[in-house]
Amino acid sequence: MGMGLGVYSEDRLDEILVRAEAEIGQWRAVEMAVVAEKRRRESHLADGYRSIVEWTAARADVSHETARAICWTATRLEEAPEVAMALAEGELTFDRAQLVARLPAEHRERHDAYDISQLRRLVAHHKRLSRKRERRLGNGFLNFGFSNELATSFWGELAGLDGRILEKAVDQRADEIIPGEVRLAVAERRALALVAICQDSLDAVAVSGEARPVDLAVTVDARTAAETDGEMGVSVLAGPRIGPGALEEILCDGKIDLIGIGQTGKPLDLGRSSRTIPRKLRRHVLDRDGGCTVEGDDSHYRLQVHHVIPWAQGGRTDADNLITLCWYHHHVSVHREGLQIERVGTSRVRLKRPR
Ligand SMILES: [Zn+2]
Ligand SMILES: [Zn+2]
Repeated sequence: MGMGLGVYSEDRLDEILVRAEAEIGQWRAVEMAVVAEKRRRESHLADGYRSIVEWTAARADVSHETARAICWTATRLEEAPEVAMALAEGELTFDRAQLVARLPAEHRERHDAYDISQLRRLVAHHKRLSRKRERRLGNGFLNFGFSNELATSFWGELAGLDGRILEKAVDQRADEIIPGEVRLAVAERRALALVAICQDSLDAVAVSGEARPVDLAVTVDARTAAETDGEMGVSVLAGPRIGPGALEEILCDGKIDLIGIGQTGKPLDLGRSSRTIPRKLRRHVLDRDGGCTVEGDDSHYRLQVHHVIPWAQGGRTDADNLITLCWYHHHVSVHREGLQIERVGTSRVRLKRPR
C-alpha cells in the first residue's frame, strides 16, 4: 500500500490494525445513523429504491450483504443504545457490535469475556428453536442438477444432528480410503468419500472385498469418441458428460454398461466381450496380487483390476497386462490424475506423474 510500514515494530503493527478496525466501526456507526435518518424520512422510496438495503448498497457502493448488515444492525442498535454508543466511541468493532446487539440484554454486558467466535456461538445458542420452527426445518432437503452438463451439482440442507452424521461418516470414510500420504483439500476428500459410500450402498459390498457392477450405463457416440480420443461423445445415460479418463476407467474395468451409438444412431454393443475380464482371470489377478499393488499401500478397499496398457490402446486382457489397484489409486490416481505406472520388481508398481 506504500504506507512505509516497514519502519514499525510488531507491537506497533498490531496497534495500527486494532485502531483501523475501531475506526471502521466508528464510521459504520455514522453510516447507521444516516440509514436510520433516511428510513425515518422514507426518502429512499421516493428516490425509486424498493428498500433501505437496496438504497444503501447502491449509494455506498457495497454488496447486498454489507448493506444488509448495516441496515439490520442499525435497527437492532436502536434497542441497544449502550452498544451503539460504544461503537461510536471506537470501543468495539462493527462485527462485535453486530453480535452483541443480537444477544439477550442480560448477556450484553459481559461480551468482552468472549472472543469473536465464542460470541458467535453464544448468539446462535440464544436463537430460539421452537418446536414449530424445528418442524419447519424438517428433514432437510437434497437437490441434484446438471449445472454445466459436465458435472452434477447438488445442494441441500440437513437438520442439526443429521448434518453431523453425514459429516462424520464422510470424514471417517475419507480416512479409510485415501492413502495417508495423499494431500487433498478437505472438500475434495469429502467428495470422494461420499461417492465411495454411495457406491458401496449400490453394490452392497463390505468395505473390504471385490466390487460388483453398479447399475449404470454410459452412452458412447462411437464415431465422435474415436475422432476426439474420447473428449467428445461420451456421457452418462441421461446425465452429464464424462471425459477420456473416466471412459478409460470404464473400458478398463469393464463393469459399467456401455451403450454405443453407431452411424445408424441405433444402440450397439461395443464389443464388451473382448474387454470384459473373465471372472476366473479377475480372481486370479486379485489372488496373485493380494491387495493394491502400489508400493507401500496395503489397501483392500474396492480392489479393481486395471489394464496397464489401456484396452483402447490395444492392451490385452491377460494376466501379464492386468494388476490390482485399490479404488483410490485406480479411480483417482491413474484414471483421473493420469499418473503412469512403473513396475517395481515383479509384483509391485510405482505411480509417476507424466512429464
Ligand atoms: Zn484402470
Ligand atoms: Zn492403493
